[in-house]
Amino acid sequence: MDAAALNAWMHEFARLIAENTAKLTELDSAIGDGDHGFNMDRGLKAVVQALDDEPPDTPSALFKRVGMTLISKVGGASGPLYGTAFLRMSAAADTSVDGPGFAKVLRAGLDGVVARGKCVAGDKTMYDALAPAVDALDAGLAEGKDFPAALQAAVDAATAGRDATVPMAARKGRASYLGERSAGHADPGATSVTLLLVAAAATLTD
Ligand code: ADP
Ligand code: MG
Repeated sequence: MDAAALNAWMHEFARLIAENTAKLTELDSAIGDGDHGFNMDRGLKAVVQALDDEPPDTPSALFKRVGMTLISKVGGASGPLYGTAFLRMSAAADTSVDGPGFAKVLRAGLDGVVARGKCVAGDKTMYDALAPAVDALDAGLAEGKDFPAALQAAVDAATAGRDATVPMAARKGRASYLGERSAGHADPGATSVTLLLVAAAATLTD
């Protein structure tokens, strides 16, 4: 995967966020302040603009541009969380990213979310979708699956992780103010990060 392939991934993520803005707004209205859909859509539109203005020529430069743009354009908790993830991905990316290299990049992004959010499994955050996805990608590649199959396993794990946030009571972020009343809805960040994986599977082949 070169910068152009990863650029296509970011464009597809932006498209999926735009398509699901109302859903993300609905979820964040149920357990937060309702801004996650709008925040993410504004941020990803700015990402597309920045990438189109001057397409970065390395994976590292591309992820850095994405991270900086998200930090400056996405408000709330999720801007710094996604931004930190992409800056860590930038630092972890080789000149050309192969399957194991992509798994390493995604793991670095997850580590960035943890460093920034101090989140653990079961807090009802984006971690609960992203961590199982990264684990499934590593496991799939270790089992000898080809990259598209391992990436599909990561999508399935993210989706299951997102769905598993429904009954959880939030322990991090704004939703935690609701305590037990935050149960019954999927976490907005777990929902948006699942779209990141869906976009990867739709655009990236080894
Ligand atoms: P805000 O909560 O400030 O309005 P957003 O609505 O944009 O920000 O994002 C909310 C999402 O951010 C949550 O659904 C959750 O997935 C994620 N989040 C919030 N706090 C944390 C944290 N400490 N660690 C990981 N993710 C978090
Ligand atoms: Mg919010």
